[in-house]
Amino acid sequence: MNPCLSLLRRILCAVLLFFLVSQISGCSGSDEGLSADSEYLRLDLPALYSTVHTISIQVAHEPEAAPYTGSTFSDIPYWSILETNIQALFAGRILEPDVIVPRDLEAMEQIPDQFRSSWTAKDIYALANDLWNQPHSTSMAEFLVLFLKGYFEDQGTPNDNVLGVSLVGTPVIAVFKDVIRAAGSSPYLTSFVEQATLVHEFGHVMGLVNNGVPMVTEHEDAEYPLHCTNQNCVMYWQNEGAPDLRIFAQQMLISGSIVMFCDECLEDTRGYAP
Ligand SMILES: [Zn+2]
Ligand SMILES: [Zn+2]
Repeated sequence: MNPCLSLLRRILCAVLLFFLVSQISGCSGSDEGLSADSEYLRLDLPALYSTVHTISIQVAHEPEAAPYTGSTFSDIPYWSILETNIQALFAGRILEPDVIVPRDLEAMEQIPDQFRSSWTAKDIYALANDLWNQPHSTSMAEFLVLFLKGYFEDQGTPNDNVLGVSLVGTPVIAVFKDVIRAAGSSPYLTSFVEQATLVHEFGHVMGLVNNGVPMVTEHEDAEYPLHCTNQNCVMYWQNEGAPDLRIFAQQMLISGSIVMFCDECLEDTRGYAP
């Protein structure tokens, strides 16, 4: 069985966006099951697409791992990029949830330094479990985004190319700030990379591609399961030579559109009838 398709609570994907033109590795399915299965850390995907009317994003960060905030050249708050893309997944559905995304550090939580140089899926899950104590609700979905120092530990080895991971079946996403910081050549681009990483990981936890939300048309990459074949989609995953993320940045500036999902991905979530 493809480890990425396992029902266990595992790492879905060690996301490496395509601007990293070298050392791209595949979806990182971890065999270490996340046994401490908190009811608070369970994501009910059908409920997300049927009864949830509010989606709330909680952000916690270690010291020196704070998310980028502020606005783009076009005065678009960086965190509205994530907000807009989540909204886009639900556009046109009978129930379009309100999406609450923090935009500045005051609305995010600084947690104590965890003094870790690497993180396994279990470590991330354990931290989320410590922080997460909201009762489960079918009308409200809360997602927890952790901004961490250090690297994702991929099969026993810290991987300094992994920007972010999502934990399958949970509402937990981790972003590795040291990797984000090294990824962009300018503050603008780096902030954009951070948002694109979040959008990509939210795409996965919200069921893309073919990850709980069935496809309307075939667009799952056979070589990189759970990713999109459309090269202009944030869920695309390509090796060396791929168009880099600056194309997205340019598209933003030119068109004003900040939706990073392709039409095929949007068609899946907008048409999903659980
Ligand atoms: Zn991915
Ligand atoms: Zn797509």
